[in-house]
Amino acid sequence: MNAPAQPRFTLERQRQIVAALDKLLPAGCVLFNEEDTRPYECDGLSAYRQLPMVVALPQNEAQVIDILKTCRDLQVPIVPRGAGTGLSGGAMPIADGVVVSTAKFNKIIKLDPYARTAIVQPGVRNLAISEASAPHGLYYAPDPSSQIACTIGGNVAENSGGVHCLKYGLTVHNVLRVRMITIDGDVVELGGGALDAPGLDLLAVFIGSEGMLGIVTEVTVKLVPKPQLARVIMASFDDVVKGGDAVANVIAAGIIPAGLEMMDKTSSRMVEPFVKAGYDTDAAAILLCESDGMPEEVEEEIARMTEVLKASGATAIAVSQNEAERLKFWSGRKNAFPAAGRISPDYYCMDGTIPRKHLAQVLVRITEMESKYGLRCANVFHAGDGNLHPLILFDANQPGEFERAEAFGADILELCVEVGGTITGEHGVGIEKINSMCVQFSPAEREAFFSVKRAFDTAFLLNPDKAIPSLHRCAEYGKMHVKRGQLKFAELERF
Ligand SMILES: Cc1cc2nc3c(=O)[nH]c(=O)nc-3n(C[C@H](O)[C@H](O)[C@H](O)COP(=O)(O)OP(=O)(O)OC[C@H]3O[C@@H](n4cnc5c(N)ncnc54)[C@H](O)[C@@H]3O)c2cc1C
Repeated sequence: MNAPAQPRFTLERQRQIVAALDKLLPAGCVLFNEEDTRPYECDGLSAYRQLPMVVALPQNEAQVIDILKTCRDLQVPIVPRGAGTGLSGGAMPIADGVVVSTAKFNKIIKLDPYARTAIVQPGVRNLAISEASAPHGLYYAPDPSSQIACTIGGNVAENSGGVHCLKYGLTVHNVLRVRMITIDGDVVELGGGALDAPGLDLLAVFIGSEGMLGIVTEVTVKLVPKPQLARVIMASFDDVVKGGDAVANVIAAGIIPAGLEMMDKTSSRMVEPFVKAGYDTDAAAILLCESDGMPEEVEEEIARMTEVLKASGATAIAVSQNEAERLKFWSGRKNAFPAAGRISPDYYCMDGTIPRKHLAQVLVRITEMESKYGLRCANVFHAGDGNLHPLILFDANQPGEFERAEAFGADILELCVEVGGTITGEHGVGIEKINSMCVQFSPAEREAFFSVKRAFDTAFLLNPDKAIPSLHRCAEYGKMHVKRGQLKFAELERF
């Protein structure tokens, strides 16, 4: 793959770009002083940092078009950015690039309770859609744990999931239409108002494309009726293997819970003193297993799930008795990532997906890796989807710990591939898992991904260096390590 080599950062280049963008955007919407650009240096994967050359804050689609055309003409790489909650470095800036933030492009354009749809701008927060729909008895189903902050543009780019996606589907199942702008400034609409749209299903290609194909400017989402009742079971297990097997048993019984999450002892112990969710902190693993729908359906499903969980070896079972208790049970799970900060100076959140039947086996192997790398790992994850989130705990101030955490994470991802899974669940590839793409995909497959990128991004300027590794990069895999946020071989020509 040979894309044009990009000019690197110089003050003269920065002045040129700022002058060009200042003509397009209102005052205060082009940032370039270090104190203004510093907040954009990383996303949720804070171990990897890079100060951007410039940050642009468009407020409408016309401004996005102008920015893209200008950057194409000046050959400036672009990194789209929503709320920056991504966990794989997808929104991490490029030294000689422009970050295009949608923070000011955040209105709900139309909410249609009869069609059960909402048309929103990319910077609208995920939770804000459900809050606006609530008076109509509706909500937007995909619910990443970051939903209070993350944007719909970021959700589309990452094909985000959440606790309730087992039953209601991922972003790709809940978005009808995306309007986006290519690097050439062309407006493209993918999908439509109905369930299916004529032509190739490019909407599905675009969702999950990590800001590499175009900038999202408008999204039509589906809204679903709020269930009349939801109840959650909290089941304890004295062995993670039994807990993992219980997950497979629930699904094998023909039940699709509204949520099926697992936390190991390290996770429940780190979160319980902080949230006081009532977790059994002596259990080796706890499962949260939700049912929602009409009250009669819920009662029947809760009874069936209880039976399966007991038969799978649950040592204790508690069922939420009211909405406040249900939210309390979930609050621990939803706050698990921040709670990791209570027991460790740093944590590295991995994200891979495996077939559910291998959950128990993989959890045992991760425990073995804890000894191998001399680091603790807390497991809190979307068990029903087989989507693992091992939180590797480390201290970046201790020499070598970050490198060991990285190697531990890469080992987990290779294990996911080994058991027939994938290196990404819902957090994307970004910069974090780009080397692991070399393990999962052949050169021919990676070249096919590049061909898709070239078809949308003719100038190869949209979020380059992310998600798809070049041949060159894969050849370096093994030798190439990110050290304290710096690429060891940063001088390598792009692609
Ligand atoms: C505590 C915590 C919990 C989380 N829980 C979950 C979870 O349960 N499920 C889950 O899926 N994820 C989860 N995440 C990850 C993250 O919140 C999601 O990936 C989310 O979709 C990112 O949205 P964002 O607006 O923050 O996007 P950003 O982080 O700003 O960007 C993410 C990617 O999207 C691209 N992008 C952003 N906006 C646009 C746009 N308008 N057009 C084109 N590309 C764009 C960026 O270039 C980047 O590649 C969690 C993160 C945290 C910190």
